Amino acid sequence: MAVPLFDTKRPVAPLRAAIDARIAAVLDGGAFILGPEVAAFEAELAAYLGARHVVAVANGTDAITIALQALGVGPGDEVVVPAFTFYASAEAIPPTGAAPVFCDVDGETMNVTAETVKAALTPRTKAVVAVDLFGNPAPVPEIEALGIPVVEDAAQAAGSRLGGRRTAALGTVGTLSFFPSKNLGCFGDGGAIVTEDDAVAELARTYRFHGSRDKVSYERIGWNSRLDELQAAILRVLLPELDRWCDGRRAAHAAYADAGLWELVTPQAQTNGAEAAWGLQVVRTPHARLLEQALPAAGIGARGYYRTPLHRQQALAPWAQGVELPVTDELADRHLAIPMNPLLGAAEAEEVTAAVRAALRGEAAA
Ligand SMILES: *Cc1c(COP(=O)(O)O)cnc(C)c1O
Repeated sequence: MAVPLFDTKRPVAPLRAAIDARIAAVLDGGAFILGPEVAAFEAELAAYLGARHVVAVANGTDAITIALQALGVGPGDEVVVPAFTFYASAEAIPPTGAAPVFCDVDGETMNVTAETVKAALTPRTKAVVAVDLFGNPAPVPEIEALGIPVVEDAAQAAGSRLGGRRTAALGTVGTLSFFPSKNLGCFGDGGAIVTEDDAVAELARTYRFHGSRDKVSYERIGWNSRLDELQAAILRVLLPELDRWCDGRRAAHAAYADAGLWELVTPQAQTNGAEAAWGLQVVRTPHARLLEQALPAAGIGARGYYRTPLHRQQALAPWAQGVELPVTDELADRHLAIPMNPLLGAAEAEEVTAAVRAALRGEAAA
């Protein structure tokens, strides 16, 4: 049995008729940008998250840039961001005019902590991008307690919780991505800004529409960054399934434990007080490179996502001079994503575990 790294098709298959009907309704309605579907989805997502405002935008990268701008981040400012994350977490910073400053992460949770952020603070620090990596919530309240505004990049963590609160709404400002392989993925690009702050929400609404409030006068240089009506209509069908899918992800994580996988490799540790909805199942092992070759050869999805961490990426070199991040470097070398999806069950967990065991023994996998 082949086990893919992720599966975006099977979970949505039972919803096909409902999705088709909503797409047809949008086509019949004739409104495609910033219409009733986006407004309804924003309200429904805010209710799900227990958040005051949701502003839907074109993707999760724009969501970070616009959230930072709405917080007043601009030229001359610094924004602290972990180097062990997807490129977009940092790429979203320079368009505001601010400079990314890379910080390290905790080796067990793979996330930023108040301590790793503190080490990167300077008098110019204007904000922190705290990433809920692979679905594991970042300790956002502890980072906010440093007194610096936080943008919680929850792109990989829709449906997770920390201390009873939902990710993306752990602090004052959060962002989500609806890229198809994320926990709540649409059928294209999409993203959202989540905030408790009325002024941030108002500015974000302005920035997503060319810096205009009324669509005739232009107060700021903004962006053209909206979620489509079609994607919003689809997301309204998917959102009510999210908690069930997240339960499935947690069950898959438990199935790996039952199969004995954690005797062979070390899973990403949950942040204290967290219930992670694992966007990806990522493990640490000195044999990551070997497994990355051997598992796919045995039909098992496996991939190192961030082998070159952000402070070693060419485009970010201007902001990485002299930066030393030992934990990031070690995780970059030793992490490995293995299959995860809401329907992954005991049989697949046992199959993956057997393939890992065989590869580590140097056997040809069955
Ligand atoms: C996917 C992702 C983003 C960007 O989201 P897009 O919708 O693809 O622009 C940002 N940060 C992290 C951590 C991500 O995984």
